[in-house]
Amino acid sequence: MEKHVPLLQIKNITKVYNVGDNRLDILKGINLTVEEGEFVAIMGPSGSGKSTLMHILGLLDRPTDGVYEIYGENVLKFNDNQTAFLRSKIIGFVFQQYNLLNKMTAADNVALPMVYSGGKNRKEKSEQLLNEVGLSDRIEHKPTQLSGGQQQRVAIARSLVNDPKIIFADEPTGNLSSKQSNEIMQILTDLNKKGISVILVTHEPDIAKWADRLIMIKDGQVLSDTIQKKKEKVDTKPLKIKKESSHLSIAEFAENFFSAIRAIISNKTRSILTMLGIIIGVASIISMLALGNGAQKALEQQITSMGTNLLYLMPGRISLGGVSGTVARRIYLKDVEALATNTELIKNIDPNVNGSVQVVYGNKNSNTSITGATPAYQYLQNAVPQYGRFFTRSENENLAKVCVIGTTVVKNLFGNENPVGKYIKINRKQFRVIGILPVKGAQGYRDGDDMVIVPLNTAMKRLLGTNYVSSVAVEVQDGKMSETETYLLQTMLERNKLTSEQADAFRIRNMSDMIQMLTSTTQTMTMLLGAVAGISLIVGGIGIMNIMLVSVSERTREIGLRKAIGATRIAVLLQFLIESSVLSLLGGILGVSLGIGISVIVSKVAGWATFISTFSIVLSVGFSAIVGIVFGLWPAKKASELSPIEALRYD
Ligand code: ADP
Repeated sequence: MEKHVPLLQIKNITKVYNVGDNRLDILKGINLTVEEGEFVAIMGPSGSGKSTLMHILGLLDRPTDGVYEIYGENVLKFNDNQTAFLRSKIIGFVFQQYNLLNKMTAADNVALPMVYSGGKNRKEKSEQLLNEVGLSDRIEHKPTQLSGGQQQRVAIARSLVNDPKIIFADEPTGNLSSKQSNEIMQILTDLNKKGISVILVTHEPDIAKWADRLIMIKDGQVLSDTIQKKKEKVDTKPLKIKKESSHLSIAEFAENFFSAIRAIISNKTRSILTMLGIIIGVASIISMLALGNGAQKALEQQITSMGTNLLYLMPGRISLGGVSGTVARRIYLKDVEALATNTELIKNIDPNVNGSVQVVYGNKNSNTSITGATPAYQYLQNAVPQYGRFFTRSENENLAKVCVIGTTVVKNLFGNENPVGKYIKINRKQFRVIGILPVKGAQGYRDGDDMVIVPLNTAMKRLLGTNYVSSVAVEVQDGKMSETETYLLQTMLERNKLTSEQADAFRIRNMSDMIQMLTSTTQTMTMLLGAVAGISLIVGGIGIMNIMLVSVSERTREIGLRKAIGATRIAVLLQFLIESSVLSLLGGILGVSLGIGISVIVSKVAGWATFISTFSIVLSVGFSAIVGIVFGLWPAKKASELSPIEALRYD
């Protein structure tokens, strides 16, 4: 035969509070045994320690010392999961203040413990219980739409939802009229008749009369223990108490998720203000990266269209006031010819002169820039005419008066007329238009299409009257870039009898250097902008943490209640983590939309190139989720570590 174990037994339980320097002995060694099926009332004057005892029995609080056994198991040694299991499955608690969650309907309040216990058919069960306590017509009502007595009946239904073995009721009628009190006591009596043990705390003798056994407490000690009504003893079978840890169920996740959404919706303004930080952060990351990537892409396009193996040779800068020794030297055509002999390094060479001229056609005239070039120009500068042709070598050698013009010049002089074959006047000399240059678009502040190109010799001798060139474009053989740079400079210095200290007599500009410099500048800019945007995300995260802390302290009572009905520490932690993640993810998604909107508007209005990469979207949404989790962790941890009764008493 199995050994008889009582439903619960406490031995020498004490509770001491230290308030300042004062030691308050509230419970001074209480011994008590309750058998299965009993209906016990605990009575005593106010301040005698009744509630403290109830909270210890209901596992909402811990004693300072003593032993507490349920079905023979020392429950004070249980871990958080096991204690939560007892609160959920073995114990039902009914509070004087009902402690219903105001944002939920009666049915949802009743079903809440099943979320944590993982019970099935929650809706049916809660409706059946509400029916049993006489509230079948109040299922969808919120607690604020119910009377005190009705709220207490909802609370009783909630305490029954996981089929507990024992119900603890702490002054359940304390806030009710005598008619409502009797109804509640009738419900408790009926439950007891069905085999559920009931332990009740009251200070009213009328209420205590309903119980079978009456325990009087005074100054933290049991004064008397009397049987009021004889009752048949029920034989108790030891119950297996689940000890393994529980895991997060889908129902629990869904409940957390929707309670997070409810919390966000019920505090609309606050939520939006909180999310604003994240929204601004994410939107700025998205739009900054879009701008940076767009600039990068535009540059890359320029690189592929220009060819990276171009060098420009130019005279050095003339120093102002003749201070430190810049000795700029001119470049003559015979220099260019000498340079061009090294075909191992140089593929193509194109000396240029530049100037500005007046062009006239009929009664229209315009000022434009002119370039004198060799036929190689069209290949080095991607300027093969789209209409007509470029001039030939012999035209250059013969000082032919032919020209190729840009589209802006066409527009200014000819309108819709076809210019090819027509004659225009350049500095009062007749030139035949033989081709139209391809469209280049804006180049910095210059219009790349407002130009005229004539043969180099024609420009030097007939138009500008110079015997030296402005610059020399050199197309380098593959892989010979730095060699050619040295060669160009060395040759020019030698031909001018200059030493290497006077190297700044000439300048050599390298296209790929320039492009690399520009690329790294845009990259640095992009990173810098991204970092600034990242900081605003962190600031947004701190905003979320702040709001979560407020939310935790506002809802401390709710946390206490959730723990009292069986939520584990992990469940509470997850609830708040989910809430902060939802908040920041929602902010992230809104921020992405705003960022995309800004990029589109900027590219439309300012004409800047933008490019939104999937990477930047994933990055910023992921980052905002992490911000939510990281910054939500501390408030969530704070909430999860509260003891149920501390949390319930919080104001
Ligand atoms: P009862 O329910 O019998 O009216 P309680 O159990 O609520 O009494 O309280 C018993 C005593 O414990 C009271 O004198 C109260 O002031 C004290 N007390 C309760 N909680 C605390 C606490 N957290 N800190 C200090 N004293 C407390």
